[in-house]
Amino acid sequence: MNADPDVLIVGAGPAGLAAAHSLKRHGVENVLVVEREPEAGGIPRFCPHPTFGLPDFFRPMSGPAYAAKWRSLVDPGWISGATTVTAIGPGLETTISTADGLSMVRPKRLLLATGIRETPRSARLVSGDRPRNVLTTGAVQRLLAETHRLPFVRPLVVGTELVSFSALLSLREAGVRAVAMIEAGDRIVARRPADVLAGLILKTPIRYLSRVERINAATEDASRLASVTIEDNRGVKTEIACDAVIFTGAFVPEASLLGGLLTLCNTRSRGPAIDQSWRLGQAGLYAAGNVLRSVETAAWAAREGTLAGDAIAADHFGKTLPSERRVAIIADDPVAFSTPSFFAVPGPPLGPLQLSIRMARAARGTVTLSADARTFWRSPGMTALPERRIVLRPSFPDLANVQDIRIGFETDGRA
Ligand SMILES: Cc1cc2nc3c(=O)[nH]c(=O)nc-3n(C[C@H](O)[C@H](O)[C@H](O)COP(=O)(O)OP(=O)(O)OC[C@H]3O[C@@H](n4cnc5c(N)ncnc54)[C@H](O)[C@@H]3O)c2cc1C
Repeated sequence: MNADPDVLIVGAGPAGLAAAHSLKRHGVENVLVVEREPEAGGIPRFCPHPTFGLPDFFRPMSGPAYAAKWRSLVDPGWISGATTVTAIGPGLETTISTADGLSMVRPKRLLLATGIRETPRSARLVSGDRPRNVLTTGAVQRLLAETHRLPFVRPLVVGTELVSFSALLSLREAGVRAVAMIEAGDRIVARRPADVLAGLILKTPIRYLSRVERINAATEDASRLASVTIEDNRGVKTEIACDAVIFTGAFVPEASLLGGLLTLCNTRSRGPAIDQSWRLGQAGLYAAGNVLRSVETAAWAAREGTLAGDAIAADHFGKTLPSERRVAIIADDPVAFSTPSFFAVPGPPLGPLQLSIRMARAARGTVTLSADARTFWRSPGMTALPERRIVLRPSFPDLANVQDIRIGFETDGRA
């Protein structure tokens, strides 16, 4: 393995592979892409629906075909599978674990493209017994991809994000119907009419304002799941018979490699805090894709990877001005956070699509942008939902003398 690459990419999902493709196009030759799974491609490798490819390859593709397409665009000699990064030091010295043991790589630049992880039962603090078949969506999709069958027939799905409905479709393809979906809020997190699809076509009712209170094993066999007790917002408990629980969504960025460098993270998104050139506040360190904030579409993650590759190549060829200071971007409630988290000055001009936000909760109203307390942009009539990218397309003032940008939301109702 190349121990001194010009660029090390950690994670070979759509973002990492697109970044590698971009670096190649720009003529950067000495690149290493490490992936902890034996095969590159990231999450799409396990998603069978033809819901990939349209935005970037202009045709619908299954997840595995989409992953294969990105793999085919990257020099196979650059990719090292079954290779896990276990630590990144302050000077980018990177510890790598393979079947041969630990080794060290010293890249000049490093792109973190490690994606996200779903919140499993343990982190959701759900009480009760510990039977089999308590899973996440990722685990179900992997099981289906690898064995083509499921060890249950009546699962309960917790969550109503887009991925939760993706789980319903995967279940249906395996001949399994979910007995119910459980949602803590008073509407689905995904865009409507996914709720109509769940009810009418997939015949799965949604229980709103409810949470899983307890998981119950069968009395005669502690390893078999028998039911789940749910509790609604009035404290009423109901037992639902099921033989599996699938916890979906509640994604968190897989940014644990920055554990020792927490000042590099955005405390709200829990992902790396980046500037408009995908740079963290440490020389040579970049991030792109889902690791930045929670789940996006694969095409969006790949697009971010491409742009990060462009920025890294510019830096590699000495075309990037060193930044002298930061313009903080402050998100006021109910705006949860923005990507990027700050602007570097001087930096590349801020064109369209330079700022996206996520909401803490659903709201309807006007997004405002202010520079040093002077509002320079308003976007009325926004219906903003959490777990959803909202791209802002403002014209920015010259940032040369600006100290901070504030993102506000004037609410005029619930979404
Ligand atoms: C269940 C599910 C269904 C989805 N369905 C769709 C869909 O239908 N259509 C769509 O467009 N999008 C879908 N998405 C979203 C899409 O899969 C993601 O947006 C996309 O995969 C993100 O790309 P990424 O490269 O940022 O991350 P990932 O695809 O997660 O890739 C990150 C890679 O980094 C590797 N990695 C992590 N840590 C390390 C480490 N320490 N060392 C080495 N390697 C590491 C991981 O193994 C992984 O391969 C779905 C997501 C999920 C979870």
